[in-house]
Amino acid sequence: MNKNSPPDLTARRDACSGCSACTAICPQGAIAMKPDEEGFFCPVIDAEKCVRCGLCLKVCAFKADQAQRAECSEYTERAEGCSESKKFPQAFAVKHANAHIREMSQSGGLFTLISDPVLERGGVVYGAGFSGDLSVSHRRAASKEERDALRGSKYVQSDMGDAFRSVREDLKQGREVLFTGTPCQCAGLRRFLELSRTDMSGLCLLDLICHGTPTPRLWKEYLNWQEARNGQKIVQASFRDKRRFGWRSHVETLTFADGTSLSDRIYTTIFYMHTALRPSCHACPYTTPHRCSDISMGDFWGLEKALPDFADNLGVSAALVHSEKGAKLFGEARSRMEVIPCSVQNCLQPPLRHPTQVSRRREAFWRDFNRGGIELVYRHYVIPALVRQKVKLSLVHPLVAALRTVEPLARLEKKIRQK
Ligand SMILES: Cc1cc2nc3c(=O)[nH]c(=O)nc-3n(C[C@H](O)[C@H](O)[C@H](O)COP(=O)(O)OP(=O)(O)OC[C@H]3O[C@@H](n4cnc5c(N)ncnc54)[C@H](O)[C@@H]3O)c2cc1C
Repeated sequence: MNKNSPPDLTARRDACSGCSACTAICPQGAIAMKPDEEGFFCPVIDAEKCVRCGLCLKVCAFKADQAQRAECSEYTERAEGCSESKKFPQAFAVKHANAHIREMSQSGGLFTLISDPVLERGGVVYGAGFSGDLSVSHRRAASKEERDALRGSKYVQSDMGDAFRSVREDLKQGREVLFTGTPCQCAGLRRFLELSRTDMSGLCLLDLICHGTPTPRLWKEYLNWQEARNGQKIVQASFRDKRRFGWRSHVETLTFADGTSLSDRIYTTIFYMHTALRPSCHACPYTTPHRCSDISMGDFWGLEKALPDFADNLGVSAALVHSEKGAKLFGEARSRMEVIPCSVQNCLQPPLRHPTQVSRRREAFWRDFNRGGIELVYRHYVIPALVRQKVKLSLVHPLVAALRTVEPLARLEKKIRQK
């Protein structure tokens, strides 16, 4: 760093997760999170206000953890040092005992299970919720009603706003805090609190199994496009409408001002193409079952194979407990859940093994998006992808059905399945 110029926090785009810790720690208020050309929140330093103290560099957990991960191939050494003993992580398949709560949650309702005791003791919960314009930001919930509004996965990067400082304030006041978010947000918060010498005994970190977050710009332009197409304001959104289509489906539902709704897979298709994820997601150091949070939550994909008797389409959470504090909170929730302990191997999905690969079409996608917006992306990428999916299904299903009608082949299929 040149002594006279402020540090360049985003010199490498894939080395900034946009967690906002640098903004929160800056004693001069010299750093603001602003959208870059793709719409991702990035720290921008006001050179006039900056006193070159270097705290913004020191607080960056993401860069430090990237460096650590590069050093040890499996990344387990540092992470295991972080967890309190070889005892962790402990893995579980979890369902909230109340079917209605499970239906309202994205997976098995682990977030509600862990947050209930915290709220009942007068603590507060932080998580990602919708604002009036359906943008997604982190907010604070002090009641179960406020917490319920944070349920559901929002497949877009959440705006952290002033949440890190607010957590610090709550902890200083002696309040118990449960913070939920992506692993990079949780790691950023932890480092920010460490560096500002905050007592973290009242803090529990519940992070997500996460394969990446798309840019808020994509989400905003998608909503505008659907509003223009349908001639109405959108008042509600569900990124994965489990209530209507089941846990395993990936269908988004938008509700319009007149009460009608539209279910589609347009945004979902773009999300899973991995062309609009934050560049840092493709170099994420937290894609491992060893985390510095207390508990991790995700969808228990692969349950049919690992624990077939526990599988259903209402949703099952995968829980990874990483610390004694996490084990205590998990234990408190046990009377409200159906739970099966399992091995970490059972829930080792790709985001727990390696970062999501960047799409080969990323550059072309952004060229097209900048040129023709969602309309062009819809025609060039989404329609072909949906057609390909339909063709695949229409070929595979009749083939499987035909196999079943031919006796020797049906037996062969059964054998293969059993293997
Ligand atoms: C961007 C993203 C990618 C994900 N990728 C995977 C994956 O690859 N594999 C997997 O198993 N699970 C993934 N998940 C997690 C999964 O979809 C569920 O959110 C999780 O299992 C919690 O379900 P629940 O029923 O316990 O919680 P719910 O009651 O539905 O609560 C949702 C929780 O997620 C948090 N949250 C929602 N959206 C965001 C956001 N944008 N940023 C930060 N926090 C958010 C909320 O604060 C809340 O704590 C992802 C979630 C997100 C948001």
